Amino acid sequence: EVRVRFAPSPTGPLHIGGVRTALYNYLLARKLGGKMLLRIEDTDQNRFVPGAEKYIMEALRWAGIEIDEGPEQGGPHAPYRQSERKPMYRQYAQQLIDSGHAYYAFDTPEDLDVMRARLTAAKVPNPQYNAITRNQMRNSLTLPEDEVKELLATDVPYVIRLKVPRKEEVRFQDLIRGWVVVHSSAIDDKVLMKSDGMPTYHLANIVDDHLMEITHVIRGEEWLPSAPLHVLLYRYLSWESTMPQFAHLPLLLKPDGTGKLSKRDGDKLGFPVFPLEWHGQDAETGEPTISSGYRESGYLPEAFINFLAFLGWNPGSQQELFTMDELIESFSIERVSKSPARFDQNKVRWYNEQYLRAKPDTELAQYLLAALREHNIECSEEKAVQIAGVMKERVTFPQDFWREAQYFFQAPTSYDEQVIAKKWNAPTAAALAEFARELPASSDVSPDGIRALLTQVLERQGIKIGQVLQALRVAVTGVTAGPDLMATMSIIGTAETAQRIETAVQ
Ligand code: GLU
Repeated sequence: EVRVRFAPSPTGPLHIGGVRTALYNYLLARKLGGKMLLRIEDTDQNRFVPGAEKYIMEALRWAGIEIDEGPEQGGPHAPYRQSERKPMYRQYAQQLIDSGHAYYAFDTPEDLDVMRARLTAAKVPNPQYNAITRNQMRNSLTLPEDEVKELLATDVPYVIRLKVPRKEEVRFQDLIRGWVVVHSSAIDDKVLMKSDGMPTYHLANIVDDHLMEITHVIRGEEWLPSAPLHVLLYRYLSWESTMPQFAHLPLLLKPDGTGKLSKRDGDKLGFPVFPLEWHGQDAETGEPTISSGYRESGYLPEAFINFLAFLGWNPGSQQELFTMDELIESFSIERVSKSPARFDQNKVRWYNEQYLRAKPDTELAQYLLAALREHNIECSEEKAVQIAGVMKERVTFPQDFWREAQYFFQAPTSYDEQVIAKKWNAPTAAALAEFARELPASSDVSPDGIRALLTQVLERQGIKIGQVLQALRVAVTGVTAGPDLMATMSIIGTAETAQRIETAVQ
């Protein structure tokens, strides 16, 4: 059985890159009939942010990413929060010590500073606690056995480190990148257990992936450098035969391609990088801050998900619109690209437009009716449906229905001056005045009926329709762009339309 997990650390809001990781895991699980787990990796208590876990769960729910096993759902491997699993990790660290693959280290923070300073002074490019430097440090590999025992018996703080071999090639096959080979000299003796008895990310992650029977680890590229270390851990814990397959997803780049998309880019460039609005505080000043989210900005979850799916994956066809079910059907890890994906804010807007206009007019009308209620404007359901129908090709967000359609309810109080200067002349005004006089008595109030009357009046006056349309639109709506004008006048109503024209031509 395929078992995948999304394993966020609750250190803040979920970035869209995180949602993409969750999505790809989910798509693979559903495609292969497996299980999707949510595991909260909260062993780093210094970076714990209250509210982040709830935010993550709410964001996944909004996006339609369903969890089969997790803190809320429970499951055969509960608990799914690492802080609640704390007692489980110790024995594995002990197992590694017993088999000679890990050791106790008693160095104080000052000892470590001295080591780093020494290496830096010697121009060692990447100062590490490793096969060479550990020989000069205070650990169970260098200290006499008695002294180690004594130290362990007292409350001198210590950590447990992995003993990374000095000269070895660590290799594994990544489903997206192919063979990855890293020399062990590039891996340091990572801490597995901290002095407070909490496991580090590396130990907890491997132990849990093993115990939870994870088959595929799909995660961001930033974890690629940790993967060789994880491979060593699987080997030393004798779990290599059931080691999950790795797939490291491509980076997400800023719209201009100049680097990793960061949490700050959204506010700077005017688009959300978070699925939901996040209420946090400024790291330096402690002032409350709000970062905008896709949900609150009016994005539909279907559009957001469709867009995200394409950030690093493509179906190999021209089709761009995919429901979640279609994504599940078409998804494969093989079609995930290893080159970085560039974030495109126009594309996500385009997706929103497509999904919005695919909705039935009756549903779109509800957005408008809600805004009208807020503004205490009465409107029949029927009229709202008509407006939604003519406006839907022109909107990007649900809130645009109200923003762009106010003239259906309120006569213009000012007019686009440029049009008035160019298109407004005496013959036009006279023709429009006549049209306005005859309009209220017209029996056919449909768009076609209105057009027929307008054509008649203009023929009589010897004016072409093209000469008056812009002026007429501005007279009726106040603005130069909008949906079909005959339909607009028909919805506004002939009496009201006539009145507006009369006001404008005066
Ligand atoms: N807790 C890690 C994170 O926050 C999980 C990385 C992984 O999937 O192994 O991304």
